[in-house]
This record gives sequence, structure tokens and C-alpha cells, in this order.
Amino acid sequence: MKIAILPGDGIGPEITKQAVNVLKALNVGAELIEAPIGGAGYDKFGDPLPDSTLDLALNSDAILLGAVGDWKYDTLPREKRPERGLLRVRKELNLFANLRPAILYPELVSASTLKPDIVSNLDIMIVRELTGDIYFGEPRGIHTNEEGEKEGINTMRYAVSEIERIAHVAFKIAMRRSKKLCSVDKANVLETTELWRQVMVEISKKYPEVELTHMYVDNAAMQLIKNPKQFDVLVTGNIFGDILSDEASMLTGSIGMLPSASLDSHNKGMYEPSHGSAPDIAGKDIANPLATILSLAMMFRYTFSDEKNANKIESAIKKTLSQGYRTADIYSTGDKKITCSQMGEAVIASLAN
Ligand code: NAD
Repeated sequence: MKIAILPGDGIGPEITKQAVNVLKALNVGAELIEAPIGGAGYDKFGDPLPDSTLDLALNSDAILLGAVGDWKYDTLPREKRPERGLLRVRKELNLFANLRPAILYPELVSASTLKPDIVSNLDIMIVRELTGDIYFGEPRGIHTNEEGEKEGINTMRYAVSEIERIAHVAFKIAMRRSKKLCSVDKANVLETTELWRQVMVEISKKYPEVELTHMYVDNAAMQLIKNPKQFDVLVTGNIFGDILSDEASMLTGSIGMLPSASLDSHNKGMYEPSHGSAPDIAGKDIANPLATILSLAMMFRYTFSDEKNANKIESAIKKTLSQGYRTADIYSTGDKKITCSQMGEAVIASLAN
């Protein structure tokens, strides 16, 4: 087990440290190698994805990433900005399948802004395509048009093969769950997603047990708030998935609870919390490390096929929450408010017994 540890920026190093401590406490004999990415990569090597970091990522079995980004890099040329390092590593490693579970732990029902009966026992899996769509499509850029006016261009593109491979991932996940899959698109307006819908229907013929439905993205955004439990597995493109998964995270109380896995076709994966680098709380030891620790559990499940250690981590988190421990973002009156590092320690203590 060779695992690359890429802490990144902002709260990235704080939350990654707690996940690494949990990993060490499991005693699985993993080789851990740390490298800079994002703003940290730019500061050290002038590149948000230094060659040495990319080499390490390519030669590891799995990657644990904190988060990248800070406002202080906002004036850099776009290719030097932290987020570009993240997009590049996903693309270079062909991590096209992003799995984002949104699970509401019973103890956190009061942390959600929605009514308890709407969100209790929520358990949704959002499957987001990660290496295509408007984030990567060419042509792109800002140029001056023939009328002499500045114009911004991005291009939404999907090839059939890209849609097919994410469809297979989503149908396979649906087969392991409730056999219900909802594909989210904007097929009434965007040709790219009209093709998306056609391919989803075609691939569904190979999974006759799965009930495939379709929903327009604007309606999906509304239904996620109105009646989120109607969904089990959602599959969608890169930009819609980006937005809907952040929305789903708030159903669970805090973005600090939402892990993610980004997989290639051989289940090699990069595991990271769904949130960003939270510069507003960086360095204060108050961030919630649970999304990162839950991402580690996903690493055991999806890359190492080690359900035992995945369950062990998730059970330890449930136990810690049931003992009333909360970081500031999920705290309600009466809970025991603790820091980021104390949360890491509490999870390790729960692992032990
Ligand atoms: P963000 O997710 O970093 O923060 C949004 C809000 O959630 C903030 O109030 C923050 O304090 C809070 N938050 C986030 N994670 C938390 C945690 N673990 N515990 C407690 N509170 C938490 O999003 P943003 O503010 O829009 O972006 C900040 C930076 O992060 C930007 O530079 C952005 O580009 C970058 N970003 C990176 C990633 C990534 O690395 N995958 C994803 C999104 C944004």
C-alpha cells in the first residue's frame, strides 16, 4: 500500500494530519509519502502540480488530498492557480468517476437546516463525471470579439465514450444499492446533455434490474431540498455534479462531513473531502476533519477492497458523534465542542474500543 499524502492549502494540512493519524492507528503497514500541491506546490516549485508531486501520484496506489486554494493566489495567471493543480492531477490520472455520498448521521439531524422528517436517515450517492464537460472543453478563454468587445468562452463537451464509462460506474453502484438511478441533465436546452441522456438510456439496457429515471438539473436542485429521500443514486456531468453535491452536503448539516472518491477505471483513486481549503478558518484548529477521515474509509473500500477497515473507521466516527463530540461547524447547544485535532484523537480512541 503506497499512499501519496497531498495536504495542500488552508485547512488542508490540519485535516489531512488527523486522517493520517487515523491511518497510522490502523496499523496496516502503509507507506506514506507527502508532497505539495496547489498553493503549496506553487510556493515551493512555482507550479501548483510540481512534476515530483505528479510522479508520486502516478506511482502510488491511492492519494489522500486535503484541499487547495487561497485568496492570495487569485491574482496569479490561471495556469499557476492552486485549483489548476487539482484539475490537472484528476485529468493526468484519468480520475473520471467522482463518488460523493451524502449521509446524515442520526446525531446530526439538528445540524441540518432542513426539518428532521425531510432529512432523517438520508443516504444518497452522487456520481459526478470529473474529467470532461465545460471545465475542460476547448475552446476556452477570454478574448476580444469582432466588435471589439471582451468575451468569455467555455465549451460544454462530452464524447459518447466519456458518458458510457461514467454510466457503467453509476449503474454498478445502483446495483449494489436500491437499484434506482436518476440521471440529471438539461436535455431540453443543451445538446451535450441530450446526448448524455441518449447514452444513459442505451447503457441502461445492460442493467435491466436498475430503474433509470431522468431529471432536469433545475428540478433536481429543487427536489434535493423538497424531498431528498426520493433519490438513491444520482449520476450527472461535471458542472451539475459540482453544484448539486455541495447542495446535498448542506442536507447533512455541514460540508465538513462530506467525503469523496475520484476513481479511474482500475479503482485507483484520489480521496478528498468535498469542501475547499476554507481560508477563513485555516490555522485555527477548528476545522472539521471528519470528511477527510471518511474519505480515508472510502479509500479502504474502493481502492483496497478492505470493507473491514472502511467499516471500522465509519463505526468509530459514529461512536464519536454519539458521545456528543462536535467541531464548531456541527455544534448545537448541549454538545461537547472540540477542536480539529481533538476530533482526530477522539476518533482514534473510538477505533480502539
Ligand atoms: P470552502 O469549502 O473552502 O468553504 C466554504 C465554507 O465552508 C467556509 O465558511 C468554510 O469555513 C466552511 N468549511 C469548509 N470546510 C470546512 C470544514 N472542514 N470544517 C468547517 N467548516 C468548513 O469553499 P470556498 O470558501 O468557496 O473556497 C475557498 C478556497 O477553496 C478557494 O480558493 C476555492 O477555490 C478552494 N476550493 C478547493 C476545493 C478543493 O480543494 N477540492 C474545492 C472547493 C473550493
